[in-house]
Order: sequence, then C-alpha cells, then structure tokens
Amino acid sequence: MTDWRETSDAAFEAGFSAWIAEHYPADWRHSTVRPFHRLRGEQATYWLRLLQTGGWRAPAWPREHGGMGLGFARQRLYRAVLEQHHVARVLDFGEQMLGPIIMTFGTSEQKRTLLPRILSCDDIWCQGYSEPNAGSDLASLRMTAVEDGDAFIVNGQKIWTTHAQESTHMFALVRTTRGERKQDGISFLLIDLQLPGIRVRPIANIAGEEEYCEVFCDDVRVPVANLIGGRDQGWTIAKALLGHERIWVGSPDMARRALALARIIVTALGLWQDFAVADQFAALATDVHDLEALYGSICDAVEREGAPGPQVGMLKILATELQQRICDFNAAIASDHAGVVGEDRIGSLPVDLHWQLMMARPVTIFGGASEVQRDILARSVLGLQSR
Ligand SMILES: Cc1cc2nc3c(=O)[nH]c(=O)nc-3n(C[C@H](O)[C@H](O)[C@H](O)COP(=O)(O)OP(=O)(O)OC[C@H]3O[C@@H](n4cnc5c(N)ncnc54)[C@H](O)[C@@H]3O)c2cc1C
Repeated sequence: MTDWRETSDAAFEAGFSAWIAEHYPADWRHSTVRPFHRLRGEQATYWLRLLQTGGWRAPAWPREHGGMGLGFARQRLYRAVLEQHHVARVLDFGEQMLGPIIMTFGTSEQKRTLLPRILSCDDIWCQGYSEPNAGSDLASLRMTAVEDGDAFIVNGQKIWTTHAQESTHMFALVRTTRGERKQDGISFLLIDLQLPGIRVRPIANIAGEEEYCEVFCDDVRVPVANLIGGRDQGWTIAKALLGHERIWVGSPDMARRALALARIIVTALGLWQDFAVADQFAALATDVHDLEALYGSICDAVEREGAPGPQVGMLKILATELQQRICDFNAAIASDHAGVVGEDRIGSLPVDLHWQLMMARPVTIFGGASEVQRDILARSVLGLQSR
C-alpha cells in the first residue's frame, strides 16, 4: 500500500480524490437540504471500514498503530479533500479521542488489543463524560466505581452521550476516590455497554433526531484491567486534549456550507436588490472570510511550531457562533418560503430550513460552551483573573 507520507501534495490530493470519487456513495454527500449531515450507525461503519481497506483510515495515527502517520499539513489537506467531495463527517470517538489517549496513557497490552479494534470498527466507542449537573462543571461528576476484587462496581448516570445507542463501548470518567479537590479521585474507565446493569435511553435533539442518550449503570462489574492510566488519574487524562481536534472543531466548513445555502435562498427569492439583505449577506460573507484567515494562520502556526496555543479556543467560538448567525439569517430571509408544518415542507426552496436552524443550535454547547470557552480565553490568553 502507498506510503502517503512520501508523495507530493499534488499526488496525495489526486490519489485521495480519485479514491473518494470511486468509493464514496453519491447519495451520502452533504447537500443544501442536509448541509451539516453526519454519517452514523451502519453507514458510518461501512465508510470507516472502506477507508481502512483502502489505506485511508486514521490520518493522524502513527503507522506503528495502523494509521497513516501524516504530519499536520497533510492532515489538513486530507480534510480539505473530503470537504471538496462533500463527504459527510463521522463522529468517530474511537479514532479521534480514545485512540490518542490509549497511545499516550495505555499499557502495551491495551494498545495491542484495543487500537486495532478501533480501526476495524469491531468496537464502536462513545464518550461518557457529562452527567446531570456535571457538564461545564465536569469535575462535579458523581458516577462511582468502587473496587471489588478484580472489578469495579459502577453506579450512576451519564447524559448527552452521543450515539451511545449505536456504540458497543463507552469510555467514561468515574469517581474512584473522594479527594480534597473535586478534580481528585476521578478515573478513566472503559465500559462494555453489553454488561449486565447498563441501560441506554436515547434522547431526541431539538431537530427530532435521536442523537444522544442517557446511560444508566446499576451495579455494573467492570474489570479493573479496563482502567486507563492508573487509578485517580482521570482528570489529567481528560484534560490532555490530544491530537488536533481543538483546531478541526473551529474549521470554517460548516459556516461555509451555511453561507452557500444563504446564497441559494437570496438568489431563488430574487433578493439581491434588497439592500438590507445584500448588506447582511456581505457582512456574513466577510466574517466567513475572516474565520478562514484565522483558521489558516493558526494552522500555519501549528505547522511551524507543533502544538496549538491557548488562542485556538477562539476558533471554536467564532466558527460555531458564525454558523448560527448565518442559519438565523437564512431562516429570516426565507421566511414562509421554506417553512415546516409537522412532516410537511412548505415552499419551493431546495433547503430544509428548520433542520439547519435546529442542528446549528447545539454547536455552541458541545465540546465546551461558548461562555466557558470565553472564560478560559480571558484567563489563559488575556491573563484576566476572576474576582
Ligand atoms: C449535541 C451535543 C452532543 C454532546 N455529546 C456529548 C458526548 O458525547 N459525551 C459527553 O460526555 N457530553 C456530551 N455533550 C454534553 C456537553 O459536553 C455539555 O452539554 C456541555 O459541557 C455543557 O454542559 P451542560 O449541558 O450541563 O450545561 P451547563 O454546564 O449547565 O451550562 C448551562 C449554561 O450555563 C453556562 N455556564 C455554565 N458554567 C458557566 C460559567 N462558569 N461561566 C459562564 N457561563 C457558564 C453555559 O455556558 C451554558 O450556557 C453533548 C452536548 C450536546 C449539546
């Protein structure tokens, strides 16, 4: 199989483009009707396995662990090619979050057994961090894991666990000790969702899709061997944001797609002569341009210097809030030309405004709410102290 680290950018781009054009199912592309579409369930597994077979899986993972071993600039190009082909995203917590954690904190046995099963999709992982009353204030989590011989007895509840109903396993933060500080005594535990005592209950999001779940654990026996990084080390692990996920979450892709939708609506409704509309469109387009510039300069800095600095937090705030503002604009100008009553769409526009508006709501919440991100920026970049 080709070692894509060794080729030129042009050869890499051409090779990946040709492969996607041949293999990616055309009707799974994101479109103006479903601009923020993500693959999930069987479709996601099918696509990830296809990438694996073609040698295009896990661009950031080292080759010794079965990944492509690409440097940052190449990973950026990889993502750009996927975007050019309108390939829908996949939320692969195994590849994006757990894999790097196992590589850094896992034992050699855990690396040997778990990493290949992530790549082959034999294990599908979800992220069990948040609990009721422990979201932004994650360290307040209360799910307990009490050691009993060769197992932990786990009790408690997780919430907002994305795609848990389609996952085989959950990596979770659990409380193993009552420490002086609430950050102490948290451990990072791998839980097989088929174990007796686990109940997974889906929750519909505001767009009506069962996107996340509650996960209840009632006296679940989890082998002690499933601990990653040692007992009570969970907070350190959770805080070690590994890989470049903090940058990708701030990519301008979603805002660009929302703006493409805006262009379609303004054109279809003949609103370019309406100066108020044209003004707002121009302002949003300029903001997308600014975001692209910031994203580009942060990516360039990472290429030069390695890890991103704390200012990378700006990207997530700007990208997600801009996506929301454009979706709000789309809804305002389309008015009743793209309404929804129950299951029926009204109007002739090739868009589903209700869906795009609703799917843009949670983006400023997950992965750290905007308010909390601003607080972190105030302290870490501006050096402001809390009163
Ligand atoms: C679509 C989606 C998918 C998710 N997927 C997962 C998942 O897979 N796994 C997982 O573990 N979690 C997941 N989450 C949960 C997510 O991490 C939490 O929703 C997030 O951390 C916010 O926590 P919360 O919902 O408890 O809100 P809260 O923390 O209660 O916040 C409520 C409001 O108060 C504000 N606020 C809170 N604290 C402060 C502060 N100190 N200063 C200023 N304002 C503050 C917040 O910004 C927010 O506006 C998901 C959430 C969403 C929306």
